[in-house]
Amino acid sequence: MPIKLQIVTAERLIFEGDVDEVNVPGQEGDMGILPKHAPLMTTLRPGEIVVVTDKQPQFFAVSGGFLEVRPERVIILADSAERADEIDIARAQEAMERAKANMSDKTGGGLDAAAAEAALARALTRVKVANKRRKNN
Ligand code: ATP
Repeated sequence: MPIKLQIVTAERLIFEGDVDEVNVPGQEGDMGILPKHAPLMTTLRPGEIVVVTDKQPQFFAVSGGFLEVRPERVIILADSAERADEIDIARAQEAMERAKANMSDKTGGGLDAAAAEAALARALTRVKVANKRRKNN
């Protein structure tokens, strides 16, 4: 029996479908969810989501959010997420450079440094996931 999976953000539905397996970057480490997994709610860190259907993987970048496993469905409520093939690598590289510049700018307060670090993690994840897709397709 497949898993009914939804990947959503506050703005849009990114993926909806029946899948055999979903792997997510949990805050405590990577997690694989198979059918009949026990109910669970956990937070996600920036990283890659891999959705497997009929042995075919699909890759997504996620910047953080929540995973909820319910008996009837699995929901990923992401802060932001993109399908690997919709990631604009040049944009992510620019975001990386901007974040690095902001991190080395010592005039900002601690909050700015934390925001720059988070932006860097989002951008690095996008570049990594987009490159992985190219190798696999
Ligand atoms: P940027 O500084 O380039 O806007 P960001 O990390 O600040 O990057 P977010 O606030 O995380 O961007 O996301 C805003 C929206 O733009 C989301 O819908 C996200 O999916 C999308 N997005 C961000 N970066 C990219 C990218 N490199 N390729 C495709 N979509 C992206």
